[in-house]
Amino acid sequence: MLVGTAVREIVDEIGLAEADVQKRAAFLDLGPRDAELLRRIRPRLTAEVIGEFAARLDRHLASFKETSGLLGSPGRRAKFGGVAERYLLKIAAGDWGAAYQQERIRLGVVHQHIGLEPRWYVGTYPRFLRVLFDAARAEFADDPASRADAIAACVKLAMLDVSLALEAYFHADHKALEHAARYDFVTGLPNRRYLAQKLDSLIARKAGYVDLFLVGINRFKTVNQTLGPEVGDRVLALAADRMRAIGDRADLVARVGSDVFAVVCADVCVPTAGGMTELILDGFERDFDLDGYSVSLGAAVGRASFAADASDRDTLIRRAEIALYEAKRLQTRVVPFHPEMERQSPEQLSILGELRLAIAAGQLELHFQPKVRVATGEPLGAEALLRWRHPKKGLMPPGLFIPFTEETDLIHPVSAWVVRDALRQLGEWNKAGIGGSVAINIAPRNLLDSGFPAEMAKAIADGGADPSRLMVEVTERGIMTDTRRAAESLQRIRDLGVRVSIDDFGTGNASLVYLKDLPTNELKVDLIFVRSMARSERDAAIVRSTILMAHSLGLSVTAEGVEDQESLDMLREYGCDAAQGYFIAKPLPAGEFARWWMERSGRG
Ligand code: C2E
Ligand code: MG
Ligand code: MG
Repeated sequence: MLVGTAVREIVDEIGLAEADVQKRAAFLDLGPRDAELLRRIRPRLTAEVIGEFAARLDRHLASFKETSGLLGSPGRRAKFGGVAERYLLKIAAGDWGAAYQQERIRLGVVHQHIGLEPRWYVGTYPRFLRVLFDAARAEFADDPASRADAIAACVKLAMLDVSLALEAYFHADHKALEHAARYDFVTGLPNRRYLAQKLDSLIARKAGYVDLFLVGINRFKTVNQTLGPEVGDRVLALAADRMRAIGDRADLVARVGSDVFAVVCADVCVPTAGGMTELILDGFERDFDLDGYSVSLGAAVGRASFAADASDRDTLIRRAEIALYEAKRLQTRVVPFHPEMERQSPEQLSILGELRLAIAAGQLELHFQPKVRVATGEPLGAEALLRWRHPKKGLMPPGLFIPFTEETDLIHPVSAWVVRDALRQLGEWNKAGIGGSVAINIAPRNLLDSGFPAEMAKAIADGGADPSRLMVEVTERGIMTDTRRAAESLQRIRDLGVRVSIDDFGTGNASLVYLKDLPTNELKVDLIFVRSMARSERDAAIVRSTILMAHSLGLSVTAEGVEDQESLDMLREYGCDAAQGYFIAKPLPAGEFARWWMERSGRG
């Protein structure tokens, strides 16, 4: 809330009409004679005296850690001194009318806004009084009666002032609390409680319909975790601005969860539901500019309507949440609520719970997709791809559980299991005379966990397998969100003798310029380009230039998603190092991979 608005509201609310202040002054026995005495001593408040007072005040506030931060920059400190000076002159002017009151309340409100609590400035009143007393003593050196009256006037004046200061402060504080209870601190938008109240009032008003759109920012959690909460807050503030821009066409725009905004439209709304969704999503089309580099986030929208989908406020919110969850899961832009969803979502939520148990129950397994040298066709190793042998649902591909897992700490035990099992498998194959390397996939979150490299080191020491036969694949996206921390973790992993590969290259924002400083050994060109390179000249060009650039940086290249002979031939022509894809082999259970290896290496 702006200070100006707050002052006006508070003056109204405290009911501080000028007459009211005069009444208080009368109660304090502060009258015309006091005013006259004060006016007499006022000329003695010279620039020097006041400067001294302001300097003391400044030193006082600077000497406590609670208040020193409030003073801020030298510029702000100087301004603060100026305020103290003007104020001192005003209070001693013997006129406690409207102008003085406004200023007094404004100061109280400002103190509350900047967090200067009364306990830190009430102690300055004795100092202030001393300045006035000194002036009174000097002015009435030969007139003891007037001197005593002048000193009494000073005390009364300080009392009036302190009472107004406290009243304004606490009133502003109360208002701020009220505001905070209904508004979000980071974005200044109304919060979830406000949303609930608004929905209640719209429903009570018997609006024909109330559309609730919940807008989830895609990838926000990754940004927040990798770039830190400050950048996360910046993203939220920028996103809030974009949401605010549509606010005048909606009944309410609010922030209702860490990365979720809400838009409410009742029957007076101009755009149709579809139009509103487009407006919302358009706002997220543009990249977010963060400290010089831009991040594209995008958003998903879940929608539910009163009375079509829900007949009360809580159900409406819950169903819009379910629709949003569904939009995120399907990676689509917008999903309206449908009753069918309610039957699915508890099941999805329980997946995370079940997965925790699945690790201990031995339901996870790695399948191995062969990798071959493009030039000769000889086997190079495999990428280990996770599968979950679910007791009821059968063999589940990672796409059904890894994306949720990567958003939570559950990815830590999952990745730890993958590391250990891959090393165990390498050890077994080593005994059977099967060579080559195994690449495992790790999540962005693993790279942010400073304990992860150490955990890998321990697994390597325990497993006894040769670390140079292990490789980690991390997506380009996972590195780009916090390049520095990712690079640190990757360097520590590399120091163990493990190789590093950038997965899904070409789909994120990474440029080779960033990658050249990263501890990497390999790029994997994403399958969306490779799969269609035989048919799309554009995709072929992307694959070719990626290979060229990677080689110039000393990185080897694996093409993933090779689905036909033609692509493999093209890759050979482009000088690609390794290939992986259904045309060569699908991901295979460990036993089948061993047979494939024997055959390929001419020993089967
Ligand atoms: P990815 O690492 O990019 O793995 C390649 C995916 O493409 C695999 O799907 C693979 O089966 C599939 N693929 C391979 N060749 C072809 C092809 O010729 N054509 C087509 N259309 N697809 C092909 P999968 O096994 O379903 O894995 C999907 C993603 O799940 C992986 O993408 C990876 O990001 C993630 N993932 C798999 N295992 C793990 C794991 O152990 N940990 C983590 N954190 N993520 C994993
Ligand atoms: Mg991979
Ligand atoms: Mg990939």
